[in-house]
Amino acid sequence: MNLPIKMTINEIISHLLEAKKILLLCHVSPDGDCIGSLVALGRALQRLNKDVCMASEDKIPGSLRFITEPGEILLTNEITEKFDTAVAIDSGDMQRLGLIGQELFSKADFRINIDHHSSNPLYGDLNLVQPQRAATGEIILDLIFNLGIEIDRSLAEPLYTAIFTDTGGFRFTNTTKDTLNKAALLVGYGASPNLISHEIYENKPLGYFKMLALAFGRFTIDEKICYTWISFDEMAEFGLDFEASEELSTFAKMLENTKMSLVFKQKEENLVKVSLRSQNGYDVAKLAEKFGGGGHKQAAGCTINAPLDVAIKEMLHAAKEVDH
Ligand code: 5GP
Ligand code: MN
Repeated sequence: MNLPIKMTINEIISHLLEAKKILLLCHVSPDGDCIGSLVALGRALQRLNKDVCMASEDKIPGSLRFITEPGEILLTNEITEKFDTAVAIDSGDMQRLGLIGQELFSKADFRINIDHHSSNPLYGDLNLVQPQRAATGEIILDLIFNLGIEIDRSLAEPLYTAIFTDTGGFRFTNTTKDTLNKAALLVGYGASPNLISHEIYENKPLGYFKMLALAFGRFTIDEKICYTWISFDEMAEFGLDFEASEELSTFAKMLENTKMSLVFKQKEENLVKVSLRSQNGYDVAKLAEKFGGGGHKQAAGCTINAPLDVAIKEMLHAAKEVDH
């Protein structure tokens, strides 16, 4: 397995070194892994004097702004240029790039797909997909090493954030010796574990705790499936962006004696984002795939186009049907 990966890395590097205008894209509802990976790769390529554009379909959540400079990441709807190379980062399938993101990706002369989701259908002209990696940030770190770029704090901080967030603060089963070694290296290059942990898990507005209190009060356990929900009206009432509800899934999976947790987050009237987590090795990516989503065995997501109560009913029904 090593040889093809090494060959792919070499091919990607030689392509990036020849490219003139490069577009880097992350997935919708961007998280720490995709933003951290995007910023680190973008900055690394800029050091090689490449014309790089970093873009996101959705705006960057407040808790991740500390790893970006103002104006560094554009919104996809602000882009009018054409690119010879586009790189999709941490996006398990092409739809994850968003409507405009997908179009920009498709229009580029050459497309590179860098990801760590096992369900990735290898939609690029070159695909560097390593499901054994805890975070796409780990893959980007390898690429940056191979590009021969010196790592300083401006690269170490976003990369550490990528690994830190996708491992739930080094707690999830995807945390390996290699993950921790990479994190330690990044600390050596200037990433501060305390500062990053503070920015990600602390520093929250009061409305955030009121939202948690409401969603915690709704925790329901049905056939060992724990679920809760939050509506967009409620999020607005607490003065929160949609992204602020992302962490609910981390709490829902803390309940004892459950097999799976489901968090329903209403994004629009008839659009519900579901975050699925499994506690005992059950493959939630398969369940998410039934609704057009995907992800990892223990953490997956999907979007259901229906009112909140209908989405909850449909997903619970499908979750109960699966053989644990
Ligand atoms: P989350 O619930 O935190 O949004 O996502 C959990 C995992 O599933 C992440 O690895 C994320 O990239 C993936 N994921 C979330 N939503 C989707 C989706 O709609 N499609 C696919 N393919 N993956 C998703
Ligand atoms: Mn990721």
